[in-house]
Amino acid sequence: MNILIRKSYVITMDDDDNLYPQGCIAIKGDTIAYVGDEESLPVGFVPDEVLDGSGMLALPGFVNAHTHSAMSLFRGYANDMPLMDWLAQKIWPLEDRLQPEDAYWLSMLSIAEMLMSGVTVFADMYMFMDQTAKAVEHSGIRAVLSRGLQGPDSRSEQRLMENRKLWEEWHGGAQGRIRVMVGPHAIYTCDAHYLRRCMELAQQLGVGLHIHLAETRTEVEEALKRHGKTPVEYLESIGFFNLPVLAAHCVHLTNHDMDILAKYDVQVAHCPVSNLKLGSGIARVSMLLERGINVGLGTDSAASNNSLSIMREMTFAALLGKGIEEDPTVIPAKQALKMATLGGAKAIGWSQEIGSLEPGKKADIVLVKYDAPHYHPAADPVTHLVYSGRDADVDTVIVNGKVVMRKGQLTTIDLERVYYEVEKIKRRIMGGI
Ligand SMILES: [Zn+2]
Repeated sequence: MNILIRKSYVITMDDDDNLYPQGCIAIKGDTIAYVGDEESLPVGFVPDEVLDGSGMLALPGFVNAHTHSAMSLFRGYANDMPLMDWLAQKIWPLEDRLQPEDAYWLSMLSIAEMLMSGVTVFADMYMFMDQTAKAVEHSGIRAVLSRGLQGPDSRSEQRLMENRKLWEEWHGGAQGRIRVMVGPHAIYTCDAHYLRRCMELAQQLGVGLHIHLAETRTEVEEALKRHGKTPVEYLESIGFFNLPVLAAHCVHLTNHDMDILAKYDVQVAHCPVSNLKLGSGIARVSMLLERGINVGLGTDSAASNNSLSIMREMTFAALLGKGIEEDPTVIPAKQALKMATLGGAKAIGWSQEIGSLEPGKKADIVLVKYDAPHYHPAADPVTHLVYSGRDADVDTVIVNGKVVMRKGQLTTIDLERVYYEVEKIKRRIMGGI
């Protein structure tokens, strides 16, 4: 299937920051064949479908570099609590009641929300990931999946086996839209021996590790008490960073921690809204960027956010950066958009194929309606998008060359069915809460 997007304002996010105010994009199968002015469109390109992009921005799909899609069940369930109380008293007891097939519908709810807000790929860490993989396959979105791993306990070896099985069954699956990583949850839920078991598995499979890191002040204080080291120093001491690592949060870091992250090219998923809602703090992102550390954006789960909008994270990242540094020049709009797209793609290890609109890359593209009052009067579209863009502006979404949302309507997901199944699961697990 060949698609031609015409007459849109194309924001490529390529290395030269090319913009085409009256641009077109040619898609051949799952790949971008051409981006640029229509006059130079290669002769002989015959589209099966033409999308009129007039009055729209065309940009790379947003990357959600850290989430737990099946936790959508807990959206709105427990609010205004600190992280550890929230997990131990509210979330973990209910998670024990989840059935594997629940994760399919709960993930599908999150995927629907993500697609409708322009997210075309997400990095997930949770249980029942084969069900999430099926939801990814059926919905057409792209994902990097890992089994959330905790140990040691009676089930920790089983979890490692599940992560291995997930890789065997799904790595490269769904027409190449699924990749698998290994997902040790955090240093406070895994001991050193178990972290090493996770590292061994990642090494064997040739994949990276996805972990929560330095999310709260408590995590840092406990690490200092237990190991005499910050969480980052501790992971360095066990050789964790010798493998590719996607580290979510990185809120509480010393300068030395930041130097370590830079030294090992650790990839950071900045999750500003979840960090704010849980009262965890605000990551010093501009200091990470200054050191050359790559930063993507994540929502974390719908339980702690409560939305899965990367557009919202992008706005918060830009504003918080300025606020915490008391400097309006840090994290300019273009940098925030980069974190939401190419930076996120790099963070999840996929920037060779996605994250920018360039010939040869996979066609993960979002068309954003650009005619609402909040985009007037005309100014720099990137600035408009970052500071006043809204999820509802997303009109059309293409993943891997396939239109998965057209004019605001999902083409692969029956939303009414998803709502029905999720309500049924909620009633079974949580009663009338
Ligand atoms: Zn998380």
